[in-house]
Amino acid sequence: MAHLTVDIGGSPGIDCRGFCSYCYFKRLKKEENPEPFGCKYCLPFTKGCDYCTNGVRENYEGFKDIRDVADNILADLQLMDGELEKITISGGGDPSCYPQFKDLMEILGSMEVPIHIGYTSGKGFDDPDIADFMVDNGLSEISYTIFASDPKLRSEYMVDPTPKASLEVFRRLCKKIDVYAAAVIIPDVNDGEALEDTCRFAEECGAKGIILMRFANRTDQGLILGNAPIIKGQRVQTVREFAEMVISLNSRYKIKINGTPLGDPEIGSPFAITDEPDLLEKLPRVEKDATIITGSIAARPIQTILDACGNKSWVYGTQKEIACLITIDDLKSVDLSKIGEVVIIPGRSFVHEKEATEVLSSDGVERTVIRGPDMLTADAETSMGMDKNGVLQMEMDGFSELIRLMNMYGRDRE
Ligand code: SF4
Repeated sequence: MAHLTVDIGGSPGIDCRGFCSYCYFKRLKKEENPEPFGCKYCLPFTKGCDYCTNGVRENYEGFKDIRDVADNILADLQLMDGELEKITISGGGDPSCYPQFKDLMEILGSMEVPIHIGYTSGKGFDDPDIADFMVDNGLSEISYTIFASDPKLRSEYMVDPTPKASLEVFRRLCKKIDVYAAAVIIPDVNDGEALEDTCRFAEECGAKGIILMRFANRTDQGLILGNAPIIKGQRVQTVREFAEMVISLNSRYKIKINGTPLGDPEIGSPFAITDEPDLLEKLPRVEKDATIITGSIAARPIQTILDACGNKSWVYGTQKEIACLITIDDLKSVDLSKIGEVVIIPGRSFVHEKEATEVLSSDGVERTVIRGPDMLTADAETSMGMDKNGVLQMEMDGFSELIRLMNMYGRDRE
């Protein structure tokens, strides 16, 4: 079974009718030769690849012309093994704003396989009838940023010129296909009563779920592109405050509500395995010592899970809240007296191993740096469409791999 991803190109903010006030790409300077972060895709001795130089900044030209998109589809189909099972439309710009969106849907619709739109703000939808058109052409799943059910808030914070039409498209899609609503929560703007209204609206429309995203405004909260703050002086919820809000909302509505960075109240993720002693028993035992470097949110649960498997080493939480957004600056502020000779960094962190080794050995202790597994758990976007067993399996796989690396590269215990 094959999966086709159709990239329409475009840049956030520029190819979505102007920047939403909370967009993480706002105020990002267009640099000719941006400094690469380093990442898991880089070659071992060269820091920098297209992903950690341009991809992460969505540093691309405008939308691709429909002819180029169609050529790419044909080329991809020719290389494909097996029957086409699903098509996903993606891009740096917003699909709803793609100038030839209807033509694209018709081309894809002729393939007669389910189409997913991984992300849209719906800002480009001005006529509610587009909902039926998309469904008629095979759209089966969409993640749709509503921000708020109040059209005035959508208009002001998302710069949506036709907020009522966009919300009507959302409503109509909910009646026919799987729709996941999304909203970045800006305290004192779309939280409180506005958020209650939004949850009620999404539930009444028949959406499958709502993913709430805590607004981040600082580098330690995950803004790694040098453009913080996104909104000057804006209050930000603490991780705990945000998690409590998500738990409370999820308990009061029938629709599934989860949040990122924390959490999925129905499944208990991230790190749902913490409450599953039988599964913890089944994980391999930790037999050697290696320091795990991670984000501040994940440090404690990872420590708990590894300790339940016989671990005796330290899990070091950096100042960065999200492990996947750790950069070399976070490693520069690690207290080297607290880490061992073998260090495992998050698989998807924006760090080049060679540079990490230099930085983490700058006290004269030669350290070995290993890149860990990509994922140890499921974030809200991932867990939204999963059941608990699927998430637990992901965590079992992630931790088994982490423990395997610890036992392979770690130091013998004294
Ligand atoms: S629609 Fe998304 S990518 Fe575009 S400006 Fe808004 S938040 Fe940014």
